[in-house]
Amino acid sequence: MVKIINNSVCRGVADKRVGSVKGVVIHNTWTNTTAEQEMNRLENMTPKQLEAGFAHYYVDEKTIIRTEDTYNRAWHVANSEGNNSYLGYEVRGNRETSKVVFLQAEQNVFWQAAIDLHYYGLSVNRDTVKCHHQFSATECPKRSLMEHCGFDSTFAIPTEVTAKMQDYFISQIKKYYDDPTLQPDGSSEGDNEHDEIIAGSPAKTINGMTAKLDIYNENPIGSFRGAGWAHAGKQTFNYCFIFLMDAETGNEIERQQSKNIARPDVNAIYGLANDNKPGFDGSINITKQAGKKAYIKIRLTNDSSGNTVGGAKDVDFNEYVLTIPKRSH
Ligand SMILES: [Zn+2]
Repeated sequence: MVKIINNSVCRGVADKRVGSVKGVVIHNTWTNTTAEQEMNRLENMTPKQLEAGFAHYYVDEKTIIRTEDTYNRAWHVANSEGNNSYLGYEVRGNRETSKVVFLQAEQNVFWQAAIDLHYYGLSVNRDTVKCHHQFSATECPKRSLMEHCGFDSTFAIPTEVTAKMQDYFISQIKKYYDDPTLQPDGSSEGDNEHDEIIAGSPAKTINGMTAKLDIYNENPIGSFRGAGWAHAGKQTFNYCFIFLMDAETGNEIERQQSKNIARPDVNAIYGLANDNKPGFDGSINITKQAGKKAYIKIRLTNDSSGNTVGGAKDVDFNEYVLTIPKRSH
C-alpha cells in the first residue's frame, strides 16, 4: 500500500499556472533521501531558497507526496515554459539507492502521472511525457537513464537515448492509464469480485419498471460507469437517465442521459417489441466528488431533462455502493 500525502509545503511561491497543463516531466532527485525528508526540507525553506528548485511531487518506494498544488507552477526544469505548463515528479534515487527501491519509486510516479494525465484530459505520448533534460542542460533523470537506457555519462544525452527514455516512461504510465484498478505495487484493487457480484445481481421490479445492473465500476479513471437494461413492459418512455446518487444523503450527485442500446435478449425474455432498445450505458465524472459514497439510480421518463414531467419511473440500486476515491492532484 502506497501512502499518499498532500501537503503543499511550497506555498504557491512560483504562482498560479497560466493556461493549461501540457504534460508531465520525470525527474530523479539524485539524493537517497526519503520523500518525507524532501518534504521537510522544502517546508523549512524561505521563498527565496525555494528558487533553487522544487517539483510538484516527491515520491519514494512507499510514499507519494504532493508538495505543490498542480494548479500552481513549480520551479523544476529551469525553463519558463516547462515550469509553467508541466507537472514535475521527483523519483527518489541516485547511484546509492538500491535498485528495488528505485524501481518501486518510479512505478509510484508512473501511477500518479497516469492519474494526473487523465485528470487534465491529456493522452500519453512524447508531447505529454518528458524528461528534465529536454528543457535544460542536466543529466536528470540520471538513474532512470542508467537503468532503462544503459546510459551513464556526463556528456549530453543523445536524441535517440532521450526517445528511448520517453518511450519507456510512456509504456509504464500507459499501464496505469489504461487500467484504473491497477495499483503501483502491481496488484489490482480487487474489483474483479465486485464486478462479478454486479454482473450476477438479480433484476429488480419496482412499480412496474424492471431494471438490471450489469456493470458498476470506475472506468475510465475519474468516471463511474453504469450499464445494464431497464423497461416498463408495455408502457414506453422516451428517455433513460442514469443518476449517480449520494448514499449518505440520498441526493443526486450527477445525471446523464443514456443512449438507448439494443438488447434483443431482454426483448425476447420479456416479450417486448423488437424495436425496443432497453440497454443503458453511461460514465459520470466523479473527479470533483472525492470521498462520497455513491449508487446508481435508473429513470425511465418522458422528460428530456431527466425530471418527471410527462411521467417517469425509477429503480434504485442502493444496495451497491462505491466510494469515490480520494486522489491527489
Ligand atoms: Zn530533474
